[in-house]
Amino acid sequence: MRFAFWVIGCQMNVADSERLSRVLTEQGHVQVPDTAGADLVVLMSCSVRQTAEDRLWGHLREVAQLKRARSSLVVAASGCVSDGNVEGFLQRAPVVDVYVDPRQPESLLAWLSDRGLADPPDFGDLDLGALVPRQGLDHTAVALHGVSRHVPAIYGCNYRCTYCIVPYTRGPQISRPVDEIRREVSWLVQAEGAREVTVLGQTVDAYGEDLPDQPRLSHLLERLDGIEGLERVRFLTSHPNHMTLDLIDAVRDLPHVCEHINLPFQAGDNDVLRRMARRYRSEDYRALIGTIRERVPDVSLSTDVIVGFPGETAVQFERTLEMLRDIEFDVVHVAMYSPRRGTPAPEVWPDDVPPPEKKRRRRAVEDTQREIALRRNQALVSAVTEVLVEGPSQRRKDQRSTTKRWGGRTRTNKLVFFPHDGNPTGELTPVRITQASPWYLDGVPA
Ligand code: SF4
Repeated sequence: MRFAFWVIGCQMNVADSERLSRVLTEQGHVQVPDTAGADLVVLMSCSVRQTAEDRLWGHLREVAQLKRARSSLVVAASGCVSDGNVEGFLQRAPVVDVYVDPRQPESLLAWLSDRGLADPPDFGDLDLGALVPRQGLDHTAVALHGVSRHVPAIYGCNYRCTYCIVPYTRGPQISRPVDEIRREVSWLVQAEGAREVTVLGQTVDAYGEDLPDQPRLSHLLERLDGIEGLERVRFLTSHPNHMTLDLIDAVRDLPHVCEHINLPFQAGDNDVLRRMARRYRSEDYRALIGTIRERVPDVSLSTDVIVGFPGETAVQFERTLEMLRDIEFDVVHVAMYSPRRGTPAPEVWPDDVPPPEKKRRRRAVEDTQREIALRRNQALVSAVTEVLVEGPSQRRKDQRSTTKRWGGRTRTNKLVFFPHDGNPTGELTPVRITQASPWYLDGVPA
């Protein structure tokens, strides 16, 4: 069977598609890049913003056309659907044969197996004993599976931020046991040549609070740090209320854990934060950033911001810009608020910030951040930094040059491009930075 994924939304969808793809491939099925050439199409959906939903429905229309021409095409969907109402979604999208609960992505394999389309699922059956530990880098495995992989540590979320659909689509927090995660990561390294792993959760720093022995994320990172052949470990996304000192110190002390923390603050005004139900104040957040920078001076910080939340005045929005100017993040992800059916906010407050004003605020965040990011990146020019190379880049600085360019990331998650005559994919390569832009760095092998 040929299968294809269509993925939008968060890294959790990416991780689920990677895991499903791995099992299907091991069963002898073949992944194809395009839904048009597939016998099975899996749509990993996102309803966190209206734009994501619009794209999903656009793609569903294309898939429906394919299915009209070829009725044997199997269409599965997973991820977050609008207001968490799966039945309503299936009624509106009759082209979808099965919806897969994102807390149990492996149930797709059971469904396929019941119809004779795949073997029964064997997610838990990662036989590490059958693997010969790698000596050095396996270029073939890296080329096939990619350098950097995502592994869920937590499904769901125990918060109820008033704008967010995730707790209603993915349910309460369920952490996976440390040993299960370690086993999967070891498999990715040994069987598939992974060099970097990002452990995922909507509030990943709350990891383990629901497990009987309550392991902390720092403990999980420590267990992953020791896996032979794994060069880098990252975690995503954190909530300020769970960013404890032991975790910050794990980032500082564990050699393979990267000095990068994504810590959404969402809004700079306390009244907006209260209505968002974020459960911290801007001064708490600022103090936390101070602690992180004191303990991990070289840390890079990224954040998420929502503009135009109901009732957010221009003065309250200014406090978001103040936070950006004062803290100076490396990267800021900004979204305009859009009401999500099934979340508390639209039930209580009208969506009263007009679209042109939301756009103005988004632009103000982008303009502010562009200057900050450029300044921070320019400070790296002339420095030598270690890049984990992810693959060839389409960016060719000099069109006449025949030397290929390659792209990868620093430990601090900055994108770096550089020329190289060989194929350094999967290697840790020292690169001297020669030029900076707000979004990436250019360099030469050092
Ligand atoms: S912490 Fe808030 S924003 Fe993040 S997933 Fe949970 S409810 Fe959504």
